[in-house]
Order: sequence, then structure tokens, then C-alpha cells
Amino acid sequence: MTGSCTLVETEHARVLVDFGLFQGAPSQELRNAKAPAIDFRRLNAVVCTHAHIDHCGRMGMLPRLGFDGLLFCTEPTAEILPVVLRSSANLQKVRVDEWRDGTGPDAVVLDPAPDPALGAPERDFEPPVLYQKGDAERLARGIVGVPYGAWRDIAPGIRLRLHDAGHVIGSASVELEIVHGASRVRVLFSGDVGPAVDGYLRPRGHAAEADVVIMESTTGARPLGPPPPDFQAALRSVVDDCRAGARTALLPTFSVGRAQVLVHGFARLAQEGLLEGVTVYLDSPMAIRAAELCMRHPGLLSPAARAMIDAGHSPFEFPGLHPLWSRKQSLKVAGRDGAGIVLAGSGFCDAGPILHHLELSVGHDRGLVVFTGYVLPGSMAEALAEGRARRVRINGSELDVRATVRRLHGLSGHADAEQMCEWLVGSGKAPGLVVLNHGDEPAREGMERRVRAAGATEVARPALNATLALA
Ligand SMILES: [Zn+2]
Repeated sequence: MTGSCTLVETEHARVLVDFGLFQGAPSQELRNAKAPAIDFRRLNAVVCTHAHIDHCGRMGMLPRLGFDGLLFCTEPTAEILPVVLRSSANLQKVRVDEWRDGTGPDAVVLDPAPDPALGAPERDFEPPVLYQKGDAERLARGIVGVPYGAWRDIAPGIRLRLHDAGHVIGSASVELEIVHGASRVRVLFSGDVGPAVDGYLRPRGHAAEADVVIMESTTGARPLGPPPPDFQAALRSVVDDCRAGARTALLPTFSVGRAQVLVHGFARLAQEGLLEGVTVYLDSPMAIRAAELCMRHPGLLSPAARAMIDAGHSPFEFPGLHPLWSRKQSLKVAGRDGAGIVLAGSGFCDAGPILHHLELSVGHDRGLVVFTGYVLPGSMAEALAEGRARRVRINGSELDVRATVRRLHGLSGHADAEQMCEWLVGSGKAPGLVVLNHGDEPAREGMERRVRAAGATEVARPALNATLALA
């Protein structure tokens, strides 16, 4: 599901597409420390689909592994990727320091007991340091931003074109045209594809025509429900709930993507005068940077967001919004009374400021926790979101879950399975081969059934480290 990484190899060139972190149970961290069996010194280029850690989080290792070539991505990704990698290096250092003095993040579901099949929920080894700030900075010097839609030669016989994937600002599907002897093969990497319409991003297009599509399958196993409810109305009901009960809702979120969707949603409510008396705290400096990045690329935003800009409003700012820049500010807000909303990471509730907010909220009847998107199987977020968690331990405090937990649907950063199929065949021609990656096995099986029904005849579900011959 995580740890995206694909090597494209021809007689003359080698290109790596994505090099992400494995996430989930602590045992996944050990997989990160073991680099795949690739001669990184012989890579001609690296391509990054988007700046989410499960697609880019191991890229900081590249200089140590011997890679000193160029890294291609979209222009917005080129701006934020160095920030994400530096912050990831910093976090790795903090985690080791915390591990050594026993102050590391602690988020365990005690009742029901965790599923052993998902790996031990607690780390019993020192967290690995994959790279340091200096490595991230060295890599950053070789990052090249390529405009959407423009062809660019990136390796002998391989050229690249990036297409808007509508998932987060700067996200791309990566088209590689590979000349191999007398043949020419077009390979398209979907990256993470966003829903057909998002609140703050411009509508994305369909898959470019390709011979081979390497496609994410995150949502393959999810049932296709009724059309998503009106998300603005759902957000408004959370606001009304907070105001009526003078209580604070915690929204676990991710800095790049989810946080912009939510802040934009609240900005729209504020503009309509529906946020009166409710303070929104954005507990994520990275989310503030991502919103600034959106503002530097207004052409990539939705017509509604652009209309707000034209009218003199920011789609990501409003008078009731308070960014929190430090841990000190964050601790001050934690456990506060009164009508408020706290957006804090991580979205999986495994680390980050959300933990001290949850620690002071989850054991109280007045607590309110609202999940708004995908939750990683096996995470505390999943157990809470599904209403299964009865007792948890957060930063050493054992707590009975008494807070109200709500889940807002209709706001996924990922296209659902049906939208993925529409994306795939939208240009009119199904590709010769669809390779399903980036999804757990039930998701890949579900997606295979659906893409076959949509007209794909050849579908592959390769195992980790498997090699596919394309020509
Ligand atoms: Zn993503």
C-alpha cells in the first residue's frame, strides 16, 4: 500500500519512479532501512509523482546510495519536496532522540487487542535514521521542475511528460516514452489520482493514451456507495455541533492535501458567515506552507477557489483561522474549552501534535473527534474511526474512549474505483497492459475486476520486487 518505488530499465537507461516510505506498523520502518537491490549509481534520473511521504519519503537516501543525477517532478512539487524531505530528516532525528530518552510518541489501542497479522503495534527497536538534513539538501540541488504537458528528455531513449493527477497541489501522472530498439513504448504511472472534482484543485483530466499503465489501486476494495454527501453541509454540521456544545472538534489531518481541503471548506463557511464564534486552529506549519504553495500557483486551483482570490479573499485564510507554529502554542490549545476546531497531524494518529490533543480529549464525554478520509489499516486512527477502540494508551495515559467519534465521507483525496476506471479509459482506448500497484491485496483484486469490466484485457498484479518485461 505504501513505499511506492518502480525501476524502469532499458538497454541504455535506468529511471526510478517514486521512492516512498513504507508506513503503518513499526515493523515497516525496518523495510525502509533496507534499500532495494538497485545499483543507484547507475540511475540516469529519478521522477517523483508527488510530495507525499509514501511516494517520496526515501528520496533523501539517494545521495548516500550513490545517486547524483537529476530528479524530475512538477514545478509545485519541486518547491515543496525539499521542505518535505528536510522535515522528514528532522523528524527521524527527533524520533531517535525521543527513543533514547523514552519520550517517543505512544499511541496504542489496548481494547480490542491489535490484530497480530498487522505487526507489533509498538516499536521494540531504535528507529532507523535513513538520511540527514544534509542528504536532503544535496538531493534538493538536483531537483528540476517540469511544466505540466511539456516533453522533457530525461535519460538516453526516455522522455517524460507530466499530467495533472488532481490529488494534491503539484501531483502528477508520469508518462514515459521509451524508445527500445525499433519499438516505442509509452508507459504511464498514475501516481495517486484524485477524485473527479475536488474542492480546491482544478478538475483533472483522464489518463493519457499509453501501452502500459502502472496504476494505483488504493480504493479498489471499497464498496461504491451512493454519491458522496454534500461535504460543505457535513462540515457545517460539525461547526454547528461545536458551537451548540461549546466544544472543540479534533480533525486528524495530513499537511499536504487534506489540510488544504478542510481549510478551504472552512474558508467558504466563514465567507458565508457560518463560522461565527468558532475558532479554527491549524496545527501544522507544513500545511501552512502547502497553502502558500497553492497561492503561488492559482492556475492549478478550482474555479471556486480562483473566484475567491479574484474577489480579494484567500481560499485558505479567514479571520477565525489561527495557525500554530510551535509545540508550545499547540500545547496551549490542547484540551481547551469552547467552540473550536483543531486540524492537526498526523492523520493516522501515530505521532505528531494530534496525540497531545487526543490525550486530553478522547477520554471525555465532551470530546469530539472527526475523521475525514482514509485511515491506514492497523492504525489507532482506523480503530477510532470505525468505533472499535474502547480503550487506548496515548503518551502513557490509559484512557477509556468516551469522546464522540464521527466520520465524514465524501472527501477522499483518492478517486474511488469507478472514477479510477473512468480515468483509465477516459481517453477512449484501454491500454494493452494495466499493472496494479500501491494497494493491499484485496484492493488490487477489487481493482482488477473493475478495470477488466471497463475493458482492460491484460492486468498484472506483480509481487514486491518482481520484474515485468514490456518489450
Ligand atoms: Zn498521495
